[in-house]
Parts: sequence; structure tokens; C-alpha cells
Amino acid sequence: MKKMDSCYWEKMANERVKYKAKQKPWQASVITLFPAMFPGALGMSVSGRALEKGLWSLKTLDIRDFANNKHRSVDSPPFGGGAGMVLRPDVLDEALSSIKRLPGRRVYLSPRGRRFDQALAKELALEPGVVLVCGRYEGVDQRVIESQEMEEVSLGDFVLSGGDIAAQALLDSTIRLLPGVLGSKEGLKEESFQDGLLEYPHYTQPRKWKGRMVPEVLLSGNHARIAVWRKEQSESITKNCRPDLWEAYQNRNNAKF
Ligand code: SAH
Repeated sequence: MKKMDSCYWEKMANERVKYKAKQKPWQASVITLFPAMFPGALGMSVSGRALEKGLWSLKTLDIRDFANNKHRSVDSPPFGGGAGMVLRPDVLDEALSSIKRLPGRRVYLSPRGRRFDQALAKELALEPGVVLVCGRYEGVDQRVIESQEMEEVSLGDFVLSGGDIAAQALLDSTIRLLPGVLGSKEGLKEESFQDGLLEYPHYTQPRKWKGRMVPEVLLSGNHARIAVWRKEQSESITKNCRPDLWEAYQNRNNAKF
């Protein structure tokens, strides 16, 4: 047997590492008091498979690891009084400074932030990654938001107990837009919001169920007719359920002509 100068599988493993390094997965960095919540739901299904494939990578930082103050505390009561606790700026600053070199916009999940939507998911997917700060208790000290120039992003007009679930929702919708994560490009193109409209209704087997039939046009095999029907459905659903989206859609289309 020919003698090899170094172990071949070691070489192959090194090659794989180099290959992966070149690909640079989209980098999600999450600063949280509960790192055990991650990847959580993101470790399953679409985002979980993408994580395994190395299309994105996840780094969690435990806020407690950065509590270098005398009492190793991460939070303190609010100045001026009031209920609850506030996350300390010095501790969060340490955490953010420790990952200065990691790519992406610095986002603090916060109910008063810019409302998260598909457009923002697209923006973030085009970046090399994102750094997410998950608040807890009453939130975080204002000064660290300002000094670290964090963007505030809200999931909607409701209050969660922490930013972690918001971070997972933001990551899930962003990750599915990364190249190679969803099988077919069509899957992406036809989804709700991609063209500013809500999606048309779906039907599958059985053809007749509890006396309800699948719309005849979908069984016709006539793809042009099906496309027209779907577009009409999308338009009327958007018009009736989300007049705000409908108006924006019409304005955009009018501007085109
Ligand atoms: N006292 C705050 C709420 C704090 S809730 C207020 O009234 O505005 C604790 C943490 O949960 C916040 O720091 C934030 O990180 C997260 N959070 C709560 N609601 C959220 C929402 N709608 N979107 C994103 N993050 C949210």
C-alpha cells in the first residue's frame, strides 16, 4: 500500500473546514439572559436544516457572563422609582464590545421600535448577519441603546416578557430568505407580502371534504386560468382584510405607470 505523508481523512476534514470558512454562513449573534432558549424552534424544520447545512450560524452570549461589577448583577431598580428592574448599561456594553468584530446591524428587540416586517427581513438577509439584544424585565438602560447606536425593532404592538421569542421570530423569517434555505425560488416568490399582497387560499386532497369542494379552476389543469384566479383572490383578500396593504399596493402600482 502506498504510504501517505499525512492522514488522508484529517486532510479531507481540513479541506471541508476551509470550504465552509470560505462560504461564510450568515451570522446570527444573540445576547440574552437565557441562552438555553436557543436555537429552540430555530433548530427545527427549515431553519434547523439550514443551520445543520451551515447556511447560517448561531452564537449566543449569556449576559450574566459579562457582569463584572461588585455584585455580579445584570439588573438594577430604575432611577426615579417604579416597578421592576432594568438591565445595566455597563454589562450589556461589555457583551456588545466582546463581539465588535461579528458582522451585522445591532438590533435591540423593543416594543417601541420600528415594526418588523417582510421588508426588514429582506434587508437583514442581505447583510452578513445580525446582532440581537434580547431585553428582559422593564427593558434596558437608555444610555447603552444610544452609545452602541442600536436600532430598535418591535414585533408588534404587544408586550412580551423578553426579547428572546421576538428574536426567534425575526431570525426565522430572515433565515428563510437566505440563498439555498428554501427549495424552490417559486416558494418564495408566491408567498404573502412578497409583492405586497396577502396569499391566495390553498387546497389539497381530498377533493370533496365535509361537503365542500375544491374550487373547480384549480382542478382544470389550465395554468393561465389558475394564475388569474390566484391573483384575483390575493387582491380581494388583501382589499378586505388589510386595507392598509391594499392602499400601499395600489399606490405602488399607480406610481409604476
Ligand atoms: N417596559 C417595557 C416592556 C419590557 S418587556 C415597555 O413597556 O415598553 C421586556 C423585554 O421584552 C423588552 O426589553 C424587549 O426586549 C422585549 N419585548 C417586549 N415586547 C416586545 C415586542 N413587541 N417586540 C420586541 N421585543 C419585545
